[in-house]
Amino acid sequence: MTISQSLCWKSSKELRYHVVSSLKYLGVNPTKIRSQNFLIDSNIIKYQIEKAGINQEDIVLEIGGGLASLTKCLAEKAKKVYCIELDKIFSKFLRDYFSTYNNVEIISGDALKIKWPSFSKSVSNLPYQISSPITFKLLEQSFQVAVLMYQKEFAERLFAEPGSKNYSRLSVMVKLKGKVKYLKTINEHSFYPQPKVKGALVEIKPLNRELNLDIIQFGEFVTSLFTLKGKTVRSALKINFKNTFSNLSEKEKEKLEKLPFIHRRIFSLTQNELIELYNEILRAGWYSSERR
Ligand code: SAM
Repeated sequence: MTISQSLCWKSSKELRYHVVSSLKYLGVNPTKIRSQNFLIDSNIIKYQIEKAGINQEDIVLEIGGGLASLTKCLAEKAKKVYCIELDKIFSKFLRDYFSTYNNVEIISGDALKIKWPSFSKSVSNLPYQISSPITFKLLEQSFQVAVLMYQKEFAERLFAEPGSKNYSRLSVMVKLKGKVKYLKTINEHSFYPQPKVKGALVEIKPLNRELNLDIIQFGEFVTSLFTLKGKTVRSALKINFKNTFSNLSEKEKEKLEKLPFIHRRIFSLTQNELIELYNEILRAGWYSSERR
């Protein structure tokens, strides 16, 4: 089969038929644990591919190939598609399905555990239960753009602003390394079996900027503060970094009171304010001593 031969899915009806009959043929019941809800709306697939601007130069990474719905269309546009699938039945299905394609490589395994090949773009309908770690893993790679389907509530956390209820470590850390754009909400009936929650398509572009920051250490710092996001900086530091802040000398107590944003609540701090606070704490020699 050559790349230009096929027309991907002619209609959503054809795609739905492919998904339902393949599941029947395989004799599998999709599992909720692995987010096995398959796209049955061919227009959404076209939209994803268009938004990612997939062309003959691209090496595409797809996480969670499932029943080939998206993989097939990617294979028709891209130079090469790497498709990672955890489920053994589906990865065998994918291998058989693409046996005559010379630009699709199926990788069986857990996308969180295996080393990813180099790629220029990623288009994936993600397994929702691994959204957070997979996003952080993605942001460690070098690529041009990713168009990803998340659960809508998760996507909202990516865009949450300081002071809002959804503002979290995720909102802070993802925007440190990537530019995120909300593309559109996807209804439950676009999937088979129909999930109980809506999806959302999000575009992520790496910022490729030099950050004068130890991201891992800063991430740990932000994570520990956000476990107490309703508290003030002062209380959160005293609770989370007991060893450092419980027995301060008078001089050090004064220094603590002079930290920036000390009376502000954690959830109100912007990304830049968190970085400023972190740098001040490092400068005072407090944070490194708390770590193992
Ligand atoms: N790409 C297909 C589509 O658009 O219809 C399937 C998407 S479905 C939401 C997610 C897929 O990811 C399932 O096939 C599931 O078996 C697979 N999956 C779940 N956890 C995974 C993991 N840790 N690594 C790789 N694939 C995984």
